[in-house]
Amino acid sequence: MFVDPHTHHHLSNYATLELLSSEGVEAVAILAYIPVRPSSHKTLLDLFNWLVNVEPDRLRSVGIKAYIGLGVHPRNIPDEGLNELMDSLELWLSRADLVGEVGLEVGSEVEVETLSRILKVSSELDKLVVIHTPRKDKEPIIRKLSEVLRNSPVHPDKVVVDHASRDLINEFLGLGTYVGLTVQQGKLGIADLIDIISKYPELIDKGLVNSDCGRDPSDPLTVKKVYHALITSGLSHFDAIKLTRDNALKVLR
Ligand SMILES: [Zn+2]
Repeated sequence: MFVDPHTHHHLSNYATLELLSSEGVEAVAILAYIPVRPSSHKTLLDLFNWLVNVEPDRLRSVGIKAYIGLGVHPRNIPDEGLNELMDSLELWLSRADLVGEVGLEVGSEVEVETLSRILKVSSELDKLVVIHTPRKDKEPIIRKLSEVLRNSPVHPDKVVVDHASRDLINEFLGLGTYVGLTVQQGKLGIADLIDIISKYPELIDKGLVNSDCGRDPSDPLTVKKVYHALITSGLSHFDAIKLTRDNALKVLR
């Protein structure tokens, strides 16, 4: 009954997928990302091929629906072949369920240019976009991102800006997009999440709880654990399930 809208489960082993299935996770979004900067755009084309043509069947074999996100994470902008990559992007994105993980890490010119081009194509294809924000220097990056979004044709209802932090929650809400609430070591804790939901109830309709689970320390069952913690904190089932399933399905479908 739970949906995790930001994962990198292409990097998770089969036992993790079986655990998710047995604990009631019905769907996940798997977003393109590898933990090294590619030497060539061809590495990303192989990654896209892997995600689109292999992962959905692997997830289906344990009874989980996979929504596949393709895009160029700011840490995955290749050393060579960025123009060739951009030329083939429309074709690849048209084969994806959503666009991601894309975004800004340091806010350099090449990152801004890459993100802007991806947003334009996403808007033309009417795809949901999941946007990464960094752990460090989040505030200036949010300001820059706000400018990039304003100058792009993409509709705020088609955007999730992810990895919201407790201290910048106002800035995230100010973007007018959906807000990704990543509960993971080094990002939000469950207690932080409960606190910001009680202070900013508008997040109940705008927030998407996720694990960002892949290769880094993360609990694959985060979304389920957050649901139970929200119920214990006094939130209704109706509101808790919005944050841990319904908002995600609304934007993913
Ligand atoms: Zn991620």
